[in-house]
Amino acid sequence: MYRTHNCGELNSAHIGKTVTLSGWVQKNRDKGSVIWIDLRDRYGITQLIFDEARTSETLMALAKTFGREFVIQATGKVIERSSKNPYLSTGDIELLVTDMRCLNSSKTPPFTIEDETDGGDTLRMQYRYLDIRRNPIKSNLIFRHRIAQLVRNYLSEQNFIEVETPVLIKSTPEGARDFVVPSRMNPGQFYALPQSPQTFKQLLMVGGMDRYFQIVKCFRDEDLRADRQPEFTQIDCEMAFVEQDDILETFEGLTRHLIASVTGNQLGAFPRMTYHEAMRRFGNDKPDIRFGMEFGELNEVSKHKDFQVFNSSELVIGIAVPKANDLTRKDLDQLTDWVKRPQIGASGLVYVRCLEGGSFKSSVDKFFDQEDLKNWAKITGASEGDIIFVLSGNTDKVRTQMSALRMEMAERLGLRDPKVFAPLWVIDFPLLEWDEESNRYHAMHHPFTAPKPEQMNLLQSNPSEVNANAYDLVLNGNEIGGGSIRIHDKATQSQMFDLLGFTPEEAKSQFGFLMNAFEFGAPPHGGIAFGLDRLVAILGGQETIREFIAFPKNNTGRDIMIDAPSVIHKAQLDELYLDLQPLE
Ligand code: ASP
Repeated sequence: MYRTHNCGELNSAHIGKTVTLSGWVQKNRDKGSVIWIDLRDRYGITQLIFDEARTSETLMALAKTFGREFVIQATGKVIERSSKNPYLSTGDIELLVTDMRCLNSSKTPPFTIEDETDGGDTLRMQYRYLDIRRNPIKSNLIFRHRIAQLVRNYLSEQNFIEVETPVLIKSTPEGARDFVVPSRMNPGQFYALPQSPQTFKQLLMVGGMDRYFQIVKCFRDEDLRADRQPEFTQIDCEMAFVEQDDILETFEGLTRHLIASVTGNQLGAFPRMTYHEAMRRFGNDKPDIRFGMEFGELNEVSKHKDFQVFNSSELVIGIAVPKANDLTRKDLDQLTDWVKRPQIGASGLVYVRCLEGGSFKSSVDKFFDQEDLKNWAKITGASEGDIIFVLSGNTDKVRTQMSALRMEMAERLGLRDPKVFAPLWVIDFPLLEWDEESNRYHAMHHPFTAPKPEQMNLLQSNPSEVNANAYDLVLNGNEIGGGSIRIHDKATQSQMFDLLGFTPEEAKSQFGFLMNAFEFGAPPHGGIAFGLDRLVAILGGQETIREFIAFPKNNTGRDIMIDAPSVIHKAQLDELYLDLQPLE
């Protein structure tokens, strides 16, 4: 037997017992006549003691040979420690070793296996198995397991069935590029890896499964933005005989349950906001509502006052940054440069200091008097001690720019408290968005999303006005879930493909199976998918999803531990007939 106990469970109740532990050498402190070894496993650390008075010479000599990360097995008697460690669950005891063996030796690890390690990102990824021995990663993985289990239990309780869907499929257009897999048995043909199980979960509804979920890997071959993974995990869900409200309520319940399990706090009903309102108030379809700084639209009170910059702008927006009046001139110059960087792209930054006693001092005092600035303060909700920042320009651009500035200020002011959870539903997304590049409409969510029934008549005449029965769940400024009510009849689905620029032949060849299924009694249905990686990271109070994935890829999509992707042999390539004529 390798062990009778683990390294985290022994305490004063075990004093006098003989036990066997197995684990890794965290530390070996050799003081000559006394040696202490910290033995570590997944559950904790137990101190082993060897001393000249009580330990045999052979064992003393053996103990001296154990370096960091050696795997050893030790049997001994649990004794009370003379100097206790209140920070360790096993800190009251130590193990006086009577028998021991080396199970495996270890090279010196390339970085320290400590909470704060000296290993850089690349080294940690290359030796991820050593990184996983560190507490922060270990506990993140355990946390992820706990969340996944809570999800499984909660949804199972609600009558959801977990069904696996295939991984080798045909491309489903969800806006990203597919990873493709050549088929040896079908020369010149390819599978695609699922960007999501979207069409399959809809077919499960046609199959009468009624409530489905799956914790499932999805794949998107996108240019990797910061902290995105080419393969990621979704909690994918679908329900039949539901309207939007049913779905929002069900998954609000799940999210509330997760937050309560993690924090102990029962949140009330989640606020709901339409897409247009979110854009108007926060310039963003995933607003962080843990703090204020809502947009005040200043067109009415800032135009036609000889300030040409505003006069020529479509939209003038201000935000009141709380207690920011202590920003120095230098800080403000630096912020002006920040908004002018190409990534943000603003042309300049106007500011108003809200002084004690109710007066104002602004960077545009030449053009606006105290009465004007008072109006700005009223509209942005600024009070004494705040600073109002104003940006202007084209509506969409200025909203995006102001949203970035709002987030930056919140970050600097410490208003993005990871322990506070502020969820919100964003609803009523537009069904379509016009894409300048391809000169056609794209589905804002995906092509299976149903238009608002009352707007069906606009689908032909004014498609860009039509809203969708689509919703996102936003948590602390991150989209953690998104879904929609689906189209479930062939005529509407064909009409949608037509709007999206598919010829009837293309629609048939790509989605004939779905439209056929709609002709065999498809029930009304809808669903949602959560990004598990990000959800877990946010619930864990962190932002980097990589820290919650056992073997993540780096930001060029490589796994640097196994060195993938990699070139393959010619023989392997030849078998795949990759040189056959492609479709035009
Ligand atoms: N399949 C969608 C996605 O991956 C989610 C959904 O509509 O359920 O974003």
